[in-house]
Amino acid sequence: MFISCYASGSAGNLYKIESNKTTLLIECGLPMKDIRHCLGTTIDDVEAVLLTHEHKDHSKAIHEFLRLGIDIYTSKGTAIACGVEKSPYVHFIESEKVFIVGDITIMPFKTNHDACEPVGFVLRDNKDILMFATDTYNLEFNVNKISQLMVECNHSYEILDEKLKNGQIDKSRYNRLVKSHFSLENLKTWLSKNDLTCLKEIYLLHLSKQNSDADEFKQEIEAMTGIPVYIADENVIKTGNYIMPTSTWECVPKPSTRSNFFYKIFREE
Ligand SMILES: [Zn+2]
Ligand SMILES: [Zn+2]
Repeated sequence: MFISCYASGSAGNLYKIESNKTTLLIECGLPMKDIRHCLGTTIDDVEAVLLTHEHKDHSKAIHEFLRLGIDIYTSKGTAIACGVEKSPYVHFIESEKVFIVGDITIMPFKTNHDACEPVGFVLRDNKDILMFATDTYNLEFNVNKISQLMVECNHSYEILDEKLKNGQIDKSRYNRLVKSHFSLENLKTWLSKNDLTCLKEIYLLHLSKQNSDADEFKQEIEAMTGIPVYIADENVIKTGNYIMPTSTWECVPKPSTRSNFFYKIFREE
């Protein structure tokens, strides 16, 4: 599947997934005008939005999408927390119950976060199995034969411990972070327990501005797995400063007279 990361992190999240026939968004956590900037006319292709949880950095534009009549797939708990549970366009999903949108089969799974009923997703088309997990302090769900992984790598314990020692963060903030977001160390443990033989690429999501080191995280995960790692940089929405993927990928500014601040990522043939 084609993956476009437009925004990732506590300032907003927006990802587009395209199969042969179907375009989905995962999350809609930006103001609608920014989402329109990002997607351009491809917003008309969006068949549905998959929403992991109610926090504004993931759900900000949900009401606008519903006004456009676009289907939202999310848990009942998330829908209630967003106040959209009565909308005819909201479809309740349940952990480990499969549903289909276009030619993509989707299985939600439970995540662990300070939210009502958060989920992650496994998406499957005729080519790929993509796993998406963010805003979760642990990952109990394993999938065989994933080919694309989009996963949170919010902080490292090493950085947090150092900051705690120096008094740069207090214990309650420390505890909140490790009980709500996924760390580099936990990601490495999860990767070590999973079959990665089909995995082609890894996207690290939702890096903390203060408590992460993008270059180091990328290097460590690449060294461990031997698989290309891309950082979904939250600056993408503000500056177009998307971190250039490696040689098999290319960043192309989408032609636009209004703005050139975003990039569409596509796979080179
Ligand atoms: Zn978040
Ligand atoms: Zn959250």
